[in-house]
Amino acid sequence: MKLSAVISAAALTLALSAVSAFADGIGDINSDGDINVTDLMMISAHVKSEKPLQEECFAFADANEDGDINVTDVMMVAAHVKGLRSLDGSFVAPEPEPEPEPEPTGPVIEVIDGVTYVDGILIANKSYALPQNYGNGLTTETLNAFYDMQRGASYDGISLWICSGFRSYWDQNYLYWNYVKRDGQAAADTYSARPGHSEHQTGLAIDINNASRSFNGSREAQWIAAHCAEYGFILRYPQGKEDKTGFMYESWHVRYVGKELAGKITDSGLCLEEYLGIDSYYH
Ligand SMILES: [Zn+2]
Repeated sequence: MKLSAVISAAALTLALSAVSAFADGIGDINSDGDINVTDLMMISAHVKSEKPLQEECFAFADANEDGDINVTDVMMVAAHVKGLRSLDGSFVAPEPEPEPEPEPTGPVIEVIDGVTYVDGILIANKSYALPQNYGNGLTTETLNAFYDMQRGASYDGISLWICSGFRSYWDQNYLYWNYVKRDGQAAADTYSARPGHSEHQTGLAIDINNASRSFNGSREAQWIAAHCAEYGFILRYPQGKEDKTGFMYESWHVRYVGKELAGKITDSGLCLEEYLGIDSYYH
């Protein structure tokens, strides 16, 4: 039997659980002043009957002083030599370092030319603003996706049109401050974005048919909710997510993210902020 086999983990545990007694010279089989691998080999050879110890060494080899030199003593000496547990209690193996908890992987937020991308997705909300000069119309992909959706809806007898697409920073500035004048800022902030914070400035957002509460629950609104993801859009301000998106429920406002992502987000039941792990409030 190999020494390494003798010093099995199970046996080590046994040795570690044994009460280690220490008397002068115990473990130091060859009396050279040190308990090391040579002593381990000697006691091991004895227990395996390969090379019995001389009688005067017996007291040093009986590590637990039970009157017998056996595998437990080998384990105790081995534990000492390995630095796991000393025979005289002078050192104890440190607790193994706990595996570090994997860092929760947060969203990757990049700002390129003043535009914020979260995990590669352009974001405009209350937390993340666009530069004043950003945007010049609906993107081609957004427009084409809308036309596809419009066609798809028409097969179901649903008529969709763009009520509001791209809005520049200055368009939004005008709108927002008019709302503030009319309803006060606290109210305006629930339904209108401050300039720079409107998704309409991204060129990826469209209000469909009728941007007002009366659209909620309409056949068209139901169709959009059920099918827009098939065309690459998500309902950007879903019902019940007001505290996450920062905006009231808008059944008419869709955001283009591409078919794959739209499907994932819609299936998740999360709003975009939740899906990306970001917030939306004016800092
Ligand atoms: Zn909108």
